[in-house]
Amino acid sequence: MSGNGGKSFEGKVVLVTGGSRGIGRACVLAFTKAGATVVFSYAGNEAAANETLEAVKAAGGKAQARKFDVADTAACTEAVDAVVKEHGRLDVLVNNAGVAIDGLVMRFKDEDWDRTLDTNLKGAFALIRAASRPMMKQRAGAVINLSSVVGEMGNAGQAAYAASKAGLIGLTKSLARELASRNIRVNAVTPGFIGTDMTAALPEEAKKRMLDVIPLGRLGGPEEIASSVLFLASDAASYVTGEVLKVNGGMYM
Ligand code: NDP
Repeated sequence: MSGNGGKSFEGKVVLVTGGSRGIGRACVLAFTKAGATVVFSYAGNEAAANETLEAVKAAGGKAQARKFDVADTAACTEAVDAVVKEHGRLDVLVNNAGVAIDGLVMRFKDEDWDRTLDTNLKGAFALIRAASRPMMKQRAGAVINLSSVVGEMGNAGQAAYAASKAGLIGLTKSLARELASRNIRVNAVTPGFIGTDMTAALPEEAKKRMLDVIPLGRLGGPEEIASSVLFLASDAASYVTGEVLKVNGGMYM
């Protein structure tokens, strides 16, 4: 930490994908409260993106929203280039944008498989590829990938989602090795069951079954994931790379 209290990210530039809602919004708020300038992406929910911007403004922070599809690799490169052009650097990349398309494998469509993998895994790859250039030049950087407990445990009806999230763990560990010599740290967080739009869509019965297997006996809050992301991005984690940090209330150990 830089010793300036709560503003440990003062002067830092952070890119968060999927910052309009849920965990991504909590990350945007946490980084801006810590003094960072944050650019966040969203897929199309303009109203939610504006709510994030309002919340940042109300707390006295600095953020910008940018609409692009993370499954579009050219758009990912453009976004990183635009951040570096405007702000002169990129210190932290948080690959948070994700979709969960559920269904049993025997009926699962090719297009749903592709959309899941392209959004959750290819998007992260494309953004890291683009971000690695400015980070290498700076000889510093931190990447945090939002994987999932489902990528660690598997889950019936979530084969595509689990494959994308397990893929992010392999990507994290490989790039942690590949980029370490340039002082770029790459880590993953595997959230358990977190209260966001993604989990609100689950049937009541499924939610009840999930709570039964969480030792802490409750859902996590998006801000409880954001605080782990902030830790991994911070100097407090300067010797942490290739780590997969479980934040799941004890659901999977
Ligand atoms: P939400 O569904 O609440 O929000 C998803 C965010 O991603 C939105 O900002 C959305 O933008 C954006 N997004 C979706 N698709 C794209 C795309 N193709 N291009 C750009 N942005 C996109 O998700 P959560 O906050 O619940 O989850 C965030 C991450 O954490 C995901 O990767 C998820 O898999 C992971 N996770 C979540 C858990 C949970 O329990 N909630 C558990 C484990 C992992 P828009 O608002 O415009 O649609």
